[in-house]
Amino acid sequence: MKLNTIVFLFLISTMKLIAQSTYHPPLLIPLSLAANFGELRPNHFHMGVDFKTNGKEGLPLYAIEDGYVARVKISPNGYGKVIYVNHPNNITSVYAHCSRFLGKLDSIILQKQKESKNFEVEFYINATELLLQKGEHFAFSGNSGSSTGPHLHFELRNTITEAALNPLKFGFDIKDTKPPQITSLKVVALTKKGYQIPNKSLLFPVKKNSKGFSISNNTLEIPANFCSIDGGQALSFEVNDFIDGSTHTCGIYESHLSSLGDTLFQQRMDSIYFDHSRFVNSHKDYDEYLKTKRKFNKAYKVAHNPLTIYPINQIGILTLQPGDSIQLNYTANDVKNNATSINFTLKANKGERNNLAAYYAPSTHFIPDSSYFFQGDNYSIFIPAFTFYEPVKKLVDTSYPNLILGNQKDPIQLPISLSLKPIASNVAIEKQYIKVNNSYIKTTLNASNWLTSETKNLGKINIGIDTLAPVIVALNFKTTDTLLTKKIVTWRITESQTEIIDYDLFIDNVWHVLEYEKKGSYLIATLPTLTNEPHSIEINARDACQNTGSWKWRGWLSEQPIKEESPAKID
Ligand SMILES: [Zn+2]
Repeated sequence: MKLNTIVFLFLISTMKLIAQSTYHPPLLIPLSLAANFGELRPNHFHMGVDFKTNGKEGLPLYAIEDGYVARVKISPNGYGKVIYVNHPNNITSVYAHCSRFLGKLDSIILQKQKESKNFEVEFYINATELLLQKGEHFAFSGNSGSSTGPHLHFELRNTITEAALNPLKFGFDIKDTKPPQITSLKVVALTKKGYQIPNKSLLFPVKKNSKGFSISNNTLEIPANFCSIDGGQALSFEVNDFIDGSTHTCGIYESHLSSLGDTLFQQRMDSIYFDHSRFVNSHKDYDEYLKTKRKFNKAYKVAHNPLTIYPINQIGILTLQPGDSIQLNYTANDVKNNATSINFTLKANKGERNNLAAYYAPSTHFIPDSSYFFQGDNYSIFIPAFTFYEPVKKLVDTSYPNLILGNQKDPIQLPISLSLKPIASNVAIEKQYIKVNNSYIKTTLNASNWLTSETKNLGKINIGIDTLAPVIVALNFKTTDTLLTKKIVTWRITESQTEIIDYDLFIDNVWHVLEYEKKGSYLIATLPTLTNEPHSIEINARDACQNTGSWKWRGWLSEQPIKEESPAKID
């Protein structure tokens, strides 16, 4: 092969690589972030980015690259109406909280809903059935599921491992010239596993001036009893990132803690596995979050934390002894390399060091490595090993039927199994359910007809009784109307004790899609075009304890022929 041919082929392949790394934006308006990847949320990291949609629903969504629709989920919870599109190079793009869909995708969803007689569906589609071209309009943005306002929650995932990837590393055009801001730092004394020692933490405000960030005297002095034989000290930082044209407080992308050029700890938000997401409770300073709602990124790693956001092996635990000091630098930056830095000396005062042995005795604390089983005549509780991130107070009261297991404030990683004997009463066992901290949790009956459940919260456990059916009330018309002129009709649905499990709409005794908008507690239906004669509409809704509420109407629909909206076809 001639040299110029090789150069030519090289150029072609390079151009192809460049072309592949330039995705089509999912929205056509200028991309603006309402949240970035890896933000520290309650019990999870933010696994994608939130794009603003001008505060409204119904903006067209575009496929970022050639691919095929691989998965669809329609739910009143979580991501709401969400589409997963698989692309070359094992990249999946995810478009969550959608309002509606176009063409063949829309018909497939409707068909699945009719087949299962359920608004809520989840299914996979094979690679040849629903192809999308790069830049193809296939859906509309919305506010479905547990969204708190119209936006597009957008994710990129590794198709094979399903790990969430940082979309901002994939070249979307978003202006960001603002560096992260450090507002506080905290020094804590730790056991050798990185568990915080109670009452051994100090908070220092960080000042910002024209020269950058600093602390008073550039020195942090800690008492001698922050030192121990086999434990150490570590830092956490209240640090947030900001982005041009937005007041939103974003999470940081990367941080380094180093001393004289040696990196002691590094964090980088490139990729997070979904089954690790809850370990945000180990990454952020949870105690501080509880007390002040302020989010501190630990610049150290606690034992058993499997997150893949720590690129190096160093875990950031310092081992100062009384009289020692160390010079430290902490730098935080965003994806666009806007960086912020602070230098200071950490100094342990002279004096008596701490004897660790007394902390976290198995008699007073739940220890992360241990599993626990509590059983009595009418209850059993199983706590698997590694449920706790750090040792927590062993608070257990098994006075059935009002049990106490731990402190509601302490987060847990794994679900705890609960079984309770139904309370003796004239109420059928189907009407009984397990409550944790006064909230219903999904309850089933086991082989011996005990109430069983899994909880991801510690606290008060007891048994609730639900004999009340969901209540359905017409919302944008009156049930007494004999002529219905609306095409889209809505109802309020209220369930006071447990949860709505099933809901069905029948028009002239034929099942019809009924959307459940859980956060707003309403039901929505688009009425079909019907002939001008009396029709019946009926809704049945069932809660978790088998109480069924219904709503019925009979009358005339508008004499005006109802115009069908005709969305642009994509197939
Ligand atoms: Zn989001």
